[in-house]
Amino acid sequence: MSSGDESEGAFWTIRVTQPILVQIQGIDPTAVAINDAVMEDATIPVSSYAPVRRVEALRCPQCGADRDWTAFGAWTDPVRLVCPSGHSWTPWEAEPARGRALMQELILACGIEESRD
Ligand SMILES: [Zn+2]
Repeated sequence: MSSGDESEGAFWTIRVTQPILVQIQGIDPTAVAINDAVMEDATIPVSSYAPVRRVEALRCPQCGADRDWTAFGAWTDPVRLVCPSGHSWTPWEAEPARGRALMQELILACGIEESRD
């Protein structure tokens, strides 16, 4: 990297007071089973439903906290989260693309919040 273009890589520190909900990869077998049970009871035949994805809150792997995060990173970085107890971790370390997508979502959400004030 050449020097002098740090302005492009602004580093964000974002307070996230609410749980961060993420979609679980793949189809949730529990939801599929529930849907199947409902469909068996249904009196009106319905066409096939869309594959089901469950959402879940990110939790600190050390203490289980699910809110009051501080998120750190630049637009092109996978997000780094710090829980209220100060545990620092990177979700989906093996999948940096997911972490990067979340970082970008948080930056965008943060910008929206700020423009509301
Ligand atoms: Zn923690």
